[in-house]
Amino acid sequence: MSLVGDNLTRPRPVATAYSGFFWEGARNGRLLIQRCGDCRLYVHPPGPICPRCGSSGVAPVEVSGRGTLYSFSTIRHLFHPAFKDDLPYIVARVELDEQADLVLITNLRRCAPDTARVGMPLRVTFEAVGEDVLPQFIPVDPAETSR
Ligand SMILES: [Zn+2]
Repeated sequence: MSLVGDNLTRPRPVATAYSGFFWEGARNGRLLIQRCGDCRLYVHPPGPICPRCGSSGVAPVEVSGRGTLYSFSTIRHLFHPAFKDDLPYIVARVELDEQADLVLITNLRRCAPDTARVGMPLRVTFEAVGEDVLPQFIPVDPAETSR
């Protein structure tokens, strides 16, 4: 979709030839990440082969949905009219617990921008936005982690 001429509609995720499972999983409340069946590397974003061993034996698997805040940026300036009511919001890189450097670009929700800290524990949640469901992350309740 074009960002020009349709300013009140949010840009939607566009599934590539390899990422359809990711969005379908989100619609079903599951965080699915591609994994190599040969060397066991998790790969995101998904592609046709494992970038480490070259195997084409890659397939989606469900992950825990747990991670930590790797880095983030607080968006305070409106870049698209459809996001007007969201300001300020946090665009986050979340490192999943399954593997070092396995990072998703997502949003950090239910967190005031001045309380976001690199390294804070997060968990996935799924947010319906129009016709799509987006994996988003929220802080883990400290009481929840001690259980
Ligand atoms: Zn591999």
